[in-house]
Amino acid sequence: MTDDLLGRHRAVLPDWLALYYEDPIEITHGEGRHVWDAQGNRYLDFFGGILTTMTAHALPEVTKAVSEQAGRIIHSSTLYLNRPMVELAERIAQLSGIPDARVFFTTSGTEANDTALLLATAYRRSNTILAMRNSYHGRSFSSVGITGNRGWSPTSLSPLQTLYVHGGVRTRGPYAHLGDADFIAACVEDLVDLLGHTRAPAALIAEPIQGVGGFTSPPDGLYAAFREVLRERGILWIADEVQTGWGRTGEHFWGWQAHGRNGPPDILTFAKGIGNGMSIGGVVARSEIMNCLDSNSISTFGGTQITMAAGLANLNYLLEHDLQGNSRRVGGLLIERLRAVAAQVPAVREVRGRGLMIGIEITEPGTDTADPKAAAAVLEAAREGGLLIGKGGGHNTSSLRVAPPLSLNVAEAEEGAAILETALRSIQ
Ligand code: PLP
Repeated sequence: MTDDLLGRHRAVLPDWLALYYEDPIEITHGEGRHVWDAQGNRYLDFFGGILTTMTAHALPEVTKAVSEQAGRIIHSSTLYLNRPMVELAERIAQLSGIPDARVFFTTSGTEANDTALLLATAYRRSNTILAMRNSYHGRSFSSVGITGNRGWSPTSLSPLQTLYVHGGVRTRGPYAHLGDADFIAACVEDLVDLLGHTRAPAALIAEPIQGVGGFTSPPDGLYAAFREVLRERGILWIADEVQTGWGRTGEHFWGWQAHGRNGPPDILTFAKGIGNGMSIGGVVARSEIMNCLDSNSISTFGGTQITMAAGLANLNYLLEHDLQGNSRRVGGLLIERLRAVAAQVPAVREVRGRGLMIGIEITEPGTDTADPKAAAAVLEAAREGGLLIGKGGGHNTSSLRVAPPLSLNVAEAEEGAAILETALRSIQ
């Protein structure tokens, strides 16, 4: 029984472990874009686990690869040659766009970002990091220390010195009145000013579209403009693609490509969708940066054969079925449909996004005042209608997040949009 499980959950797990819904759901199985709970209710999954089910739940190709690999060997450690790891690294290195790329596998996005920080600080001999306001990079000692979302950042006493850069805020802060080009110019001016009185930082880390921050996106080209300033000073750019990678944004395979004028990032981190639910994270960097560490090192569970087999099967499926193109087409329809609803519901301040990464901002009707309670009510109402969606984290809980598996079809998009419409209208 869910109630009993909830009591046991509360008795043994941390209070801060996020749990959705007043009456939390126990999910028992999934197929395609649907999941089922312990009571047999079926839900359309518009959050894809947590952007982890990239292609589809129980995708036969991934299940087959995992079970065949499990029958051979699950894990032998990276102390031995590991064929699926080499093959997946080759594919990701080539897709990353980073020249002479090396790939290191971890088990999560947090650990990937920790590794990126380790590389950047060692390479640049500096422990100062630039990060974006409103950002989220993970829950470890160092990644919380560079997280700009004030829901987390006060917790960490990380020895990294972090300076927060403007351009990542949901409301555009003091530059709300500016058009895109002027907004970028103002943010660049801030960055130059900040660097004028700062010890040389190691890197700037940024999510091309902020995930936990509510799927907020800076104008295209912001990071290309930042890059010019950084490059002149030898400062590295780390793109955190944990949520934006693998074609989710539709137009591009990586989020950084919307800012691609000045080439790929120096370091790219990934996780979430590549394993379709299996724990794969990782870092890509050109060899000069990756190989600046001189000690022998491993991640015990990074690159295990079983996760790599899942990643390869999942990536093959994604590319063979052009799920990036599907994300662009179906995501475009969904955004259009939701914007039409937004025009009729004054509490919906904005529908934003790209591909199948769509944010819905809920405010007090007709104002800019965030309304997390109303957003929570929409989440509950959508669940009643048989639809699971996500919300932003930390201080962004007035943002709702829509990120279904990238194989979503038009009929499912229509069905989900209709449920969301009812849910949004219910808070009027
Ligand atoms: N970076 C970004 C952009 C994320 O959204 C997250 C998780 O939501 C992380 C890093 C941390 O990843 P993980 O939860 O796999 O440690």
